[in-house]
Amino acid sequence: MPETQTPNPRGAKPDRRPRGRPPALPALWYAAGFLVLLAIVQAVFVATQGGRTLPYSEFKSLVRAGKVQEVVVGTDQIQGTLKEADQGSTNFTTVRIEDPKLVEELDDHGVKYTGEAANKWMSDVLGWVLPLLFLVLIWSFFFRRMGGAEGGVMSFSRSKAKIYAESDVKVSFEDVAGVDEAEDELREIVEFLKTPRKYTSIGGRIPKGVLLVGPPGTGKTLLARAVAGEAKAPFFSLSGSEFVEMFVGVGAARVRDLFRQAVAKAPCIVFIDELDALGKARSQSPMGSHEEREQTLNQLLAEMDGFDARKGVIIMAATNRPEVLDPALLRPGRFDRQVLVDKPDVRGREAILRIHVKNVKMAPDVDLHVVAARTAGFAGADLANLVNEGALLAARHDKSAVEMRDLEEAIDRLIAGLEKKRVMTDKERRIVAYHESGHAIVATLLPGLDPVHKISIVQRGFGALGYTMQLPLEERYLMTRTDLLNQLAVLLGGRSAEEIAFGEISTGAQNDLQRASDIARAMVSEYGMSDEMGLVAFETGRRPTFLNVPLPQERGPYSEETARRIDAEVSRIMREAHEVALRLLGERRAKLDELSERLLEKEVIEGAELRALVEAGAEKDV
Ligand code: ADP
Ligand code: MG
Ligand code: ZN
Repeated sequence: MPETQTPNPRGAKPDRRPRGRPPALPALWYAAGFLVLLAIVQAVFVATQGGRTLPYSEFKSLVRAGKVQEVVVGTDQIQGTLKEADQGSTNFTTVRIEDPKLVEELDDHGVKYTGEAANKWMSDVLGWVLPLLFLVLIWSFFFRRMGGAEGGVMSFSRSKAKIYAESDVKVSFEDVAGVDEAEDELREIVEFLKTPRKYTSIGGRIPKGVLLVGPPGTGKTLLARAVAGEAKAPFFSLSGSEFVEMFVGVGAARVRDLFRQAVAKAPCIVFIDELDALGKARSQSPMGSHEEREQTLNQLLAEMDGFDARKGVIIMAATNRPEVLDPALLRPGRFDRQVLVDKPDVRGREAILRIHVKNVKMAPDVDLHVVAARTAGFAGADLANLVNEGALLAARHDKSAVEMRDLEEAIDRLIAGLEKKRVMTDKERRIVAYHESGHAIVATLLPGLDPVHKISIVQRGFGALGYTMQLPLEERYLMTRTDLLNQLAVLLGGRSAEEIAFGEISTGAQNDLQRASDIARAMVSEYGMSDEMGLVAFETGRRPTFLNVPLPQERGPYSEETARRIDAEVSRIMREAHEVALRLLGERRAKLDELSERLLEKEVIEGAELRALVEAGAEKDV
């Protein structure tokens, strides 16, 4: 998807411009001049040495006629002089032919002859030294291009770095919408940058690194700029791929340079866009190590550890692939605060549209509420694109303002374009709405569970089609057997709702099933919660301590027979949880329908509204 850009908001003069490269022209001239010279040398050489080129037969007859003075027999050429000039030159050349009798004949006719050696150095020069010279020339030409204007070999670490501080960013939170939660979290950073002393005198810990995580086009870059704009702080921005250059050591030098500059300008923001290009987990790639990237990453980690956040440098970064990041980046003292920048819901989309139509003339029939409703799954950048596209369509039809029809057409075009990026169809949205409603209703009905904070069918970038978010009431150290069984019912509630509403199930429940079976299996084989199997822990429960990755499946020391009984127990527990979910939802079919419809319309429903809906008229149900 083409990322639309707002008209470049950088009003300010950058402190540091990229240094210009040396113009490529002179070097090209050198090369051309050299070629011409080569041609001239060769022509002169041939003219003085070669003379006329004769057929071999003619040469033989000249020898027999006694007209040849002397010859130099080369490996594949014979050069000679005639006794008297022929066509203005006494010199001639002929191509040598295998002729054993030649020497005999030359003797017979008294021709002086020698083997070739005389001009060997000349062909050496042409055949060997010159190409070498040429290579050196090309090499130095390219090297100079990479080196930058200062020319020196060692200066390239600084020269190409596009590091400059924008001192007057013109973006503010007004230009961002639909990501209120992220905005709220970032306001604190703004406050800190505005008055660092207020915070440092109390001694509170200020986050060093803030990582903006979210799907492409949701406004991560925009938000980072807005923080700088709001705080009126200098803004150093650099994208992760810019660090990774072809010379080893350059990236690390660039990181050092960046931090040195930033400390000098504090309070300020250092923003690393597309952090994943730089911060991919080390040694995760199958193609051996990436020395350069790892060095750069190590340097970044070292710099982040080394400097003092109280000096007022905030490091922000953005990524849409948090899962590939090196875990070391996310440790305390580094990017320890993560801010989710998610795709907007209907209201958010309307707000974003309002921002982007500000500079576009809209006809009175345009209803942004309707446009927002029709653009489920669009990110902020898509919406900006939509307005732009609508304006172009209107202009093409010679209208003086953008009408609703233009926007409708633009939506159709963009959806067709986004289809590849999987925007949900209406049918899929219905399924997801019922699925999430199922989770939410079961979670609200069963006791002892974390209350539902919000339900959403806004597609997230990370594979989830929708989500039901439960906030823990309190930190839990222990869960009872009932808690776990209820949790299972909630997990299976999504699938059960699909069964009830559509008489069919989709692949969307796969993750739920996975998690549910994990819980059920742990109940049986680790926690001894099954009457059938009794009070035994079958799994050793060895888990990697620091890494959040599962070890390769390792089975405890029990027999095939026991394994079968465990499996049977797991399925029984799952089946019972499924029945609970089915019963709870089946008894409340009307509520399931109502919640799903509301969800389809609003896309996001808060916990309070959900509980009100589920509890309304509950007495009758019981
Ligand atoms: P990201 O960095 O998340 O990929 P960008 O910040 O580059 O997204 O967004 C690209 C453009 O899309 C922005 O310049 C802006 O015009 C528009 N845009 C994206 N998200 C929003 C938003 N939440 N509010 C307003 N405009 C947005
Ligand atoms: Mg971006
Ligand atoms: Zn689910």
